[in-house]
Amino acid sequence: MSAIILDGKKLASQIREDLSSKISALQGTLPPALAVVLVGDNEASKIYVRNKKKAASEIGMICEVLELSSGIGENALLEVINELNSNHHIHGIIVQLPLPPHINPLHILSAISPQKDVDGFNPYNAGLLSCREDSAIISATPKGILRLLQHSDIELSGKHAVIIGRSNIVGRPAAILMLNQDCTVTITHSKTQNLQALIKQADIVIAACGSPKLVKKDWIKPGAVVIDVGINRLEGKLCGDVDFEEVSQIASYITPVPGGVGPMTVAMLLENTFEAFQKQAQTPHPQCHCHHCNHSL
Ligand code: NAD
Repeated sequence: MSAIILDGKKLASQIREDLSSKISALQGTLPPALAVVLVGDNEASKIYVRNKKKAASEIGMICEVLELSSGIGENALLEVINELNSNHHIHGIIVQLPLPPHINPLHILSAISPQKDVDGFNPYNAGLLSCREDSAIISATPKGILRLLQHSDIELSGKHAVIIGRSNIVGRPAAILMLNQDCTVTITHSKTQNLQALIKQADIVIAACGSPKLVKKDWIKPGAVVIDVGINRLEGKLCGDVDFEEVSQIASYITPVPGGVGPMTVAMLLENTFEAFQKQAQTPHPQCHCHHCNHSL
């Protein structure tokens, strides 16, 4: 194996430690608080939410999980979001996806206050990212990918980044983020023709298609950087969208699955929540006279 491993687990743990010290240094205010809305009984979602709650608690961040029945209507869910928007003890709100089919995720994500939208899925934040606005809250997975690349001083400007996948939560924002870093970007998807030939031209490959071990060694230009976002189960074991055994022989850098992008996603969610908290702490809440707010004004 020749590729250098981009160790997301290690970097994420440094980021979490740093956040933890910042939170313990806060004096006279309540800690940052994240609200996670979980609708229905999706087993994978429950595991993701449990991991987020654990990670938040470990750094001293409050994480409130609101478990709602899969039968909840769109209007009732919008009311829950509105309540969280106006609760100034909550600094970040995420809605765990997927939502049940009778609920339009865009309606719900658009209702989250952009300042509390720590997943960056509200079209307003997605739009700010497209406009290359620094104030955008950037969704956690693409932000984590960029942080991993920057941590290893990987040159991005002028490089050809090929993204596999165009979902709103990974492929699209990752493509825009790479474009904002002056990469030349190709977005591929399930209808793309000549996928292999396009990937072969890439200096940076970001695989986010949910197709186990799709990307093979002979698809990769020698020395390319390979970021594997996929989380799949194959014969009972976790694997990515990249055939790690093969591709690590030819890439210059590669992320493992698990231990690559996954832990970075959680760390970036916590970082986004902490940053949202800091920004909101600068805005006083004149109507509130509760004990805690008097401290944080
Ligand atoms: P999605 O199903 O919403 O989107 C998949 C995208 O891949 C689509 O745009 C589709 O067109 C494209 N695609 C599918 N098969 C393809 C193929 N054979 N060739 C080219 N394109 C193809 O999935 P998603 O939510 O974007 O997630 C993608 C993967 O990343 C999944 O495995 C998911 O579990 C994982 N994921 C990981 C993290 C993390 O933190 N590591 C976060 C989110 C998602």
